[in-house]
Amino acid sequence: MPFGHGARSSAAPEGSGLPPGPGPAPRALPCDPFVADPVAGNRRRHPYPVPVTPTLFANAIFHTLNPAQPHPEALLVADGFVLAAGPAAELRAHAPAGTSTVDLGNAVVIPGMTDAHIHTASLARSMHEVDLRGAGSLAEALAGVGAVLPRYRVGEWILGGWWDFNKWQVPVQPDRTSLDAVCPRNPVALTSTDGHTVWANSQALQLLGITRETPHPAGGEIVRDAAGEATGILRESAVYPVRKLAASGVSGNLPEQLREAQRYLLSLGITGVHDIDGADALAAYRILREEEGLALRVHKLLAQDDLEGSIAAGIRTGQGDSWIRHGAVKIFADGAAGSHTCHMSQPFPGGTGHGVEVTTYPELLALAGQAAEAGIAVAVHAIGDRANTLVLDALAAIRDTTALNALRHRIEHVQFLQPADVPRLAELGVVASMQPQHCPSDMPILGMVEGRGLASYAWRTLLDAGATVAFGSDSPVEVPNPFHGLHAAITRTTATGEPDGGWEPQERISLAEALHAYCVAPAFAAGEEALKGTLAPGMLADFAVLDTDIFTTDPAGIRDTKVRMTVTGGAVRYRRDA
Ligand SMILES: [Zn+2]
Repeated sequence: MPFGHGARSSAAPEGSGLPPGPGPAPRALPCDPFVADPVAGNRRRHPYPVPVTPTLFANAIFHTLNPAQPHPEALLVADGFVLAAGPAAELRAHAPAGTSTVDLGNAVVIPGMTDAHIHTASLARSMHEVDLRGAGSLAEALAGVGAVLPRYRVGEWILGGWWDFNKWQVPVQPDRTSLDAVCPRNPVALTSTDGHTVWANSQALQLLGITRETPHPAGGEIVRDAAGEATGILRESAVYPVRKLAASGVSGNLPEQLREAQRYLLSLGITGVHDIDGADALAAYRILREEEGLALRVHKLLAQDDLEGSIAAGIRTGQGDSWIRHGAVKIFADGAAGSHTCHMSQPFPGGTGHGVEVTTYPELLALAGQAAEAGIAVAVHAIGDRANTLVLDALAAIRDTTALNALRHRIEHVQFLQPADVPRLAELGVVASMQPQHCPSDMPILGMVEGRGLASYAWRTLLDAGATVAFGSDSPVEVPNPFHGLHAAITRTTATGEPDGGWEPQERISLAEALHAYCVAPAFAAGEEALKGTLAPGMLADFAVLDTDIFTTDPAGIRDTKVRMTVTGGAVRYRRDA
């Protein structure tokens, strides 16, 4: 009987902002998917209309990721949820009067994917800013800046960046003088592709108030030349003022830009994001929701700067509803691999030291403890093996508070691990939030860490240890295309297949495991596994309709997969031919 376990709708006050009908008040537990958010003031029943008439989605190959019904013939959707899955004729026979049918034309359906680590505000802005990703030299980077100049008025900030000196013919750190020569009449501050370094010109340094006398900020560096003058390179916490500037509105109307980014993400089969950007993104998403234009599910992490205020406002991880929900607080333990600022137990070759401990261990412990006590999970950015060890030490130290508040902490990136830390991470129940595309992208520096016995981008090892691995893109650092991520996860090669057989191929995982990391694991990380991640009866009707069966094609075919249609809450939000 296909209707055995559907009908969640009576239990879920979708977006009502009210307790779920008569009876006891909602449990005020973090991660409870049905606790409405008193702060968000989610007054609408739905962020925008969900089809009231039930719909039968038929004539497709369904991969539901539901082990009980992995490949049903059809899905019956009502009120935003999957009501039943099974043989089309049987569903049709039992469907409520007025059920409409959508013929999917022999396409392939997978659950909607969630990007578990994405900076959607930055992505949205980047679609309008300087993009030096294609530059293969300093000269090409400078030419790229010169090319956008006509779009700006004199004195207007020029932001963006995405430069990566590791990919330049002569990999040198650039300086302000070269930028001054191209761009003397505008302040320019260009963030490196990993987001941890800024390359600024003289006018930008002046406006940022950086002089000879400015001390290094805690956890950051203002690089200086032999004469003591700032070179224009700012590292780690020294880039924060530029991030603030970029978030201040000098770069345009964020809700408008997010609308465009949302359409782009839907076109890639993404139905949910774990957004890592700041409160500006949350405010913009709420505007989209008010305008009935929100079509992506947003799990919103908090910036560290907002922790105190959030605690004071009574915000806890898990509050919200299935559209906008509060997540963990993001804390930076270290820097990045590309900038050689990740915190390693052995230094990178070339004398750049052990990396940067952006948050010291005592601070990390204090912050994690403060957050956990207030019912807020932590998401700690840790790339180097030493950083990961310290984060796990801190999470082990607060495990009682964590258990008491039923929190799911996460580590973002988890790129290099000491082998002994792998079982520790699994045993602590920490979610490994990882980005498969970083593996091929970091190829130029991976040789530097080979032979150290580290578990690097260790998806196989982590899964075998029983850890939850959730995948994302870190977009705009990488293109937010999850099919590129699936390809990287199963091959560990670049798009063109290098290196042959994959880098450390023993860490490859299967397509089913990789898709799980884009669907089920992000839902678990967000405490939403009863709502999202599979297409079982009772789950939200969020899915992507593909032109390719990713389970039968080769890796190149997976990478090139196109999305025909994306459905969130039972409503078609994107159509390729539209
Ligand atoms: Zn990130």
